[in-house]
Amino acid sequence: MSYLADTDPEIASIIHKEFERQRDGLELIASENLVSRAVLEAMGSIMTNKYAEGYPGKRYYGGCEFHDMAENLARDRLKALFGAEHANVQPHSGTQANMAVYFATMKLGDLMLSMKLSQGGHLSHGSPVSFTGQFYRVSQYGVDPRTETIDYGAVEEIARKERPTMIVCGASAYPRTIDFRAFQEIADGVDAYCMADIAHIAGLVATGLHPTSVGVTDFTTTTTHKTLRGPRGGAIMCNTEYAAMVDKAVFPGMQGGPLMHTIAAKAVCFKEALRPSFKEYNRQIIKNARAMAESLMEQGLRLVSGGTDNHLILIDLTDRGITGLEAEQALGRAHITVNKNTIPNEQRSPFVTSGLRVGTPAVTSRGMKEEEMHQIGEYIGKILKDIHNEPLIRKIGEDVRSMAARFPLYPD
Ligand SMILES: *Cc1c(COP(=O)(O)O)cnc(C)c1O
Repeated sequence: MSYLADTDPEIASIIHKEFERQRDGLELIASENLVSRAVLEAMGSIMTNKYAEGYPGKRYYGGCEFHDMAENLARDRLKALFGAEHANVQPHSGTQANMAVYFATMKLGDLMLSMKLSQGGHLSHGSPVSFTGQFYRVSQYGVDPRTETIDYGAVEEIARKERPTMIVCGASAYPRTIDFRAFQEIADGVDAYCMADIAHIAGLVATGLHPTSVGVTDFTTTTTHKTLRGPRGGAIMCNTEYAAMVDKAVFPGMQGGPLMHTIAAKAVCFKEALRPSFKEYNRQIIKNARAMAESLMEQGLRLVSGGTDNHLILIDLTDRGITGLEAEQALGRAHITVNKNTIPNEQRSPFVTSGLRVGTPAVTSRGMKEEEMHQIGEYIGKILKDIHNEPLIRKIGEDVRSMAARFPLYPD
């Protein structure tokens, strides 16, 4: 930090303030996590100094022998982690991994069938404000209004009627198990490709705690920074038959030089994820989500689909008469960070919403267990019952800080 503080005290001070924010609060954003020191060190390394356009053994620049070693390790470990035949670790982000698969399989104007953003899908799955909604035609499925879970029969019906080129599954705000095999079967029935985007649940999938999509759907894309607990980035897995078209779509199709410092850090993350302790960690994420769900329901809150199978929970605030935005802000004042989220059959705009999304990966990384989850559920319940009670929010904020202090971000 001292080099940075000497050269750029403004940025050094901003980073320090952000460190304090992370240290003093409870991070319940379901897509966030804390990386290990080893991952941080690889990300901040001199691997960033090199151009390595191309792939190991086939680069456009000299001097890539060590970059080849790093990228081969990352690819081999990712394949081992998920049992994949082929892996591409170069996508700069989850969106770019998706972009590459679309570019490999679809022509402009082809039809994509995907999950509605407002019911759990992702921007890069065909939203009109994303390139996906402008380059491709999009048809969408949602959740069943009664069960608030995916109705595979309904998806199949749309697929048969619309005949998409690509069926996309995987979600950003869906608390239940996804049947990837059912999606691939629907795709096979209409001669479409199937892509599973496991960005949120990659850690659960890697450890066998959620059924896998790898080797089941034609393509699997992921981020490396959510439940996988690695550096910010993306990756693609597929069978050997699609390897060449995926690699060509990533580079030179979508990207230039790979972020080699990030690829080195991905290799470190995959090594960490191959350890037995990573399975324990993911098991605890799920146990924590269940404990938090119970606690929130005891507080009288309604959860979308009635609970959770994974790392996240969607709270429906409709009967509380408050918006997701108001709830997010009130909890934020007590150092509890969550995000407002649309819920099935949302009546409000995505900037306001009627729901909250809560996730346990980051607090589980700090070592918190069911007891703390129960307590946090109570804090959330109390604040949501009384969001204008500033003394209460201040008091809970102090309790939150002392809970956070018992679980340091980096104990060493
Ligand atoms: C987070 C997420 C992504 C996008 O990741 P970025 O790295 O932010 O581009 C893609 N798909 C799903 C389902 C996600 O949840």
